[in-house]
Amino acid sequence: MPPTSHPAELIATSRTCVAQNRALIRETRLRVAQARRACNPWFAVVGGSDASERMLRDMVRLLLAGGVLRPVDGHAWAGNGTGRPCAVCGNPVTPMEVEYEVDGDATAHTRCFLVWQEESKHVPEKK
Ligand SMILES: [Zn+2]
Repeated sequence: MPPTSHPAELIATSRTCVAQNRALIRETRLRVAQARRACNPWFAVVGGSDASERMLRDMVRLLLAGGVLRPVDGHAWAGNGTGRPCAVCGNPVTPMEVEYEVDGDATAHTRCFLVWQEESKHVPEKK
């Protein structure tokens, strides 16, 4: 990548890098989850919803710890899904689902948002 000095270009480049990194982190988490399933053939049988809930919670904790997700305090707008990707799981929030919009730039499924909100309570406040 050639060096740039214009602040607007730097901001645009940074935003692109952040978006790419977020996508990579989501993809990595999904691959880890798939690998866990592949390593344990009983996972699908005994896992059920408890296991997927635990994986979702683990993913939210990692995304919060890594700064990919900001802690949320429960203030969000809810409406019909717009097809934008969920900030937590990466899957699109379809028009058939409820979409939570946080700070105008992040969207999440209801279930993802509830876990995100709950796990945010455990994030220490920055001073
Ligand atoms: Zn989601």
